Amino acid sequence: MTYGKLYIVATPIGNLGDITLRALETLKSVDFVLCEDTRVTKNLLMHFSISKPLISYHQHSDLKRIKEIKELLESGKNLALVTDAGTPGISDPGNLLVRDMIKAGVETIVPIPGACAAIAGLSISGFPTDKFVFLGFPPLKNKRQKFFQDLAGQSHTVVFYESGHRIKKCLDELTKFLPANREIIICRELTKMFETIYRGAISHVVKTMADDRGEFVIVVSGK
Ligand code: SAM
Repeated sequence: MTYGKLYIVATPIGNLGDITLRALETLKSVDFVLCEDTRVTKNLLMHFSISKPLISYHQHSDLKRIKEIKELLESGKNLALVTDAGTPGISDPGNLLVRDMIKAGVETIVPIPGACAAIAGLSISGFPTDKFVFLGFPPLKNKRQKFFQDLAGQSHTVVFYESGHRIKKCLDELTKFLPANREIIICRELTKMFETIYRGAISHVVKTMADDRGEFVIVVSGK
């Protein structure tokens, strides 16, 4: 059986100028685009004058949807997977689809690299990046304390994600579990109009952070 190809396409994390030429070529060439939120992807494609049938795929997609996607690939259709922003599979449902398609025998899964919020944050941190630890999002409830305790003990640079409505809580937890002089950088709304970077010792950053709206990447220096 000759399967179609599944392209894993990174999209911008805010600034549409960060789309790559290869991402555009791929989105134009495929038969279907699999996406997390069809409204978000429709807007992205419209901006680049691309018209493609969209198929929604997200963390609650059922087995029927996975089967449909598999059948499309089996029938030779080429598909692109995008998520709402950044590189599919990095703290979003993209990795589940890749896992399921590998299990289903799909052989050609092609990365189309581009923006990733964690890597953008790391790139301006100035902390060592020859080794780093990516922790995704802190857990929502019970295991939060352990998350911050583990983070405090890391000797490598740590990068993680937090949403606007939990950033204040997250700063309180960083203050509680890490020494006040541990260096951090908080990247708010990277690549967007209100991009703001807060840099310095935790005690300083907590005092200076003025705006908690938006999306955040946090980079913490190693112990
Ligand atoms: N796969 C994505 C990537 O490659 O960056 C990450 C998806 S994850 C569901 C979304 C989180 O990434 C947000 O809650 C935020 O923590 C971070 N993020 C995404 N865009 C961002 C931006 N422009 N500035 C800061 N953080 C961002």
